This record gives sequence, C-alpha cells and structure tokens, in this order.
Amino acid sequence: MRGVPILMYHQVSSHSLPGFEKYTVAPRAFAAQMRWLTRTGYRSVSLDALLAARAGGPPLPHRAVVITFDDGFAECVEHGVPVLRALGLTATYYLVAGLMGGVSSWLRPDRGIELPLIGWGTARELCAAGFTCGAHTVSHPRLVALAPEARREEVRASREILEGGLGHAVHHMAYPYGSYDAAVREAAADAGFRSAASVRIGLSGATDDPLALHRVPVTGHDSLPDFVCRLRTGHAAGELLRRNARGALRGLRRVLSGGAA
Ligand SMILES: [Zn+2]
Repeated sequence: MRGVPILMYHQVSSHSLPGFEKYTVAPRAFAAQMRWLTRTGYRSVSLDALLAARAGGPPLPHRAVVITFDDGFAECVEHGVPVLRALGLTATYYLVAGLMGGVSSWLRPDRGIELPLIGWGTARELCAAGFTCGAHTVSHPRLVALAPEARREEVRASREILEGGLGHAVHHMAYPYGSYDAAVREAAADAGFRSAASVRIGLSGATDDPLALHRVPVTGHDSLPDFVCRLRTGHAAGELLRRNARGALRGLRRVLSGGAA
C-alpha cells in the first residue's frame, strides 16, 4: 500500500511577510488544494485513526490524507478552519504550549517577524469542532540543541500544559524545526506521546516510525500541480525534475565513463 501523505502547513494568510513566504500559503491556494483533495476522493483522517489502522484497527479510506498545521498561527485557523469545515475535512494543529494567545517570539531572532498565535478559547473550540490539538513544545526551541533536562522538560511540560488548558488528553506532538535525534525521540516516548511528526519529507508508509513521522510540506510557492505532485511523492514538480535530472546525469556520466555494467 502506498504511504499516506501527512501534509504540513504553517501559515495561511494573504499577507506573505518577507522571509516567511515559503511558510505562508494564500487562502485561495489553500482552498483550491482542499477542494482538489475532496474532488479527487481523498478523505482526511486523524492521527489517531492512522495509528489505529497501523495497529490492526479499522482500515483507512482508500485515499487517506492527514492535514497538519505547525505553530498555531491565528490566521491559519481563521482562514483554514472555514474551508476545512465546509469540505468535511479534519486537521491537527500543533500548538506552542507556553505561548498560547501570544506571538511567535521564536521567529524574531531568525526572521525579524512575530505573528499572533491562537489562545485557549480558540484551541478549545477547535477540539470541540472535531479538530485535534497536538503539542509543539513549550517555547519552540531546537530540541537537539538543549541540555537533556531542558529537552525533557520542553516535551513533558508541553503535554501537561496543553492537557490542563484543553481539559483532555494530548497524544501527538511535532518537533520544532524538525529537530530531533534519538534522545529527543526518547523524551517524546517518555512523555507518553503516541506520535511525533518530523520534517523528513516523504509519504508515511506502514512501517514509518510513529515518533518521527514523515511529512509532506506544502509551501507558499507551490502551484496546484506542485501540490498534487507533493501529495503523491512528497516533492514539488520542479524538485522532482531536478532530482530526476541529477539522477539521469549521474547515470549518463557512468555510461560515458564506461562504468556501467
Ligand atoms: Zn514550528
């Protein structure tokens, strides 16, 4: 069986801030992507359903897709949720537990911007509407760079804070910047997370590590054909062409140098 695309979005906004264009999908493009999914028979499933199917539970629909949003930007909820609800799609929002209702302060040093984040009221509304809220640590650090105790605390406390604020269990997390190694993965397991999403690009196959799930990034530069290509391969059309061209060139060089068997 082909793997399931776990789509990774960040911001959905018509204001693409300099330095953040890659992470900002325009509302019209997002709506077109979601309409394409439903028109072509894709059904969104939760991470719980994905894990359950892999553990021998109810099978997934033929064309299953998981939709995720990192960071909890207010605008991605404002523009994304009405589209998702209208089309009967579900999604997971990974929230930075220590910055609820605040701003994305981690973006200031690197990119010079700060974006508003959703607060507890909106997060609870999301959950009540059938969306999933997952953890994205307490302060959005690069977990690999932290000392062991700080690393464990960022992971453990994010779950505790979110569970307190939401009033129910939180089972899923995403590593900020996709920063993880064996120790980070262990911290996620010790904190009791059932899944943790990485930024390793690719479809999530049956043997994908639940604590380092592959995902499919969707960027602000993607055309609809790019989106379709990503959905099926993990990569945009141009990226695939470049990768294939590199592979073809390597093969050609081998042939020309007499190295081919
Ligand atoms: Zn993030």
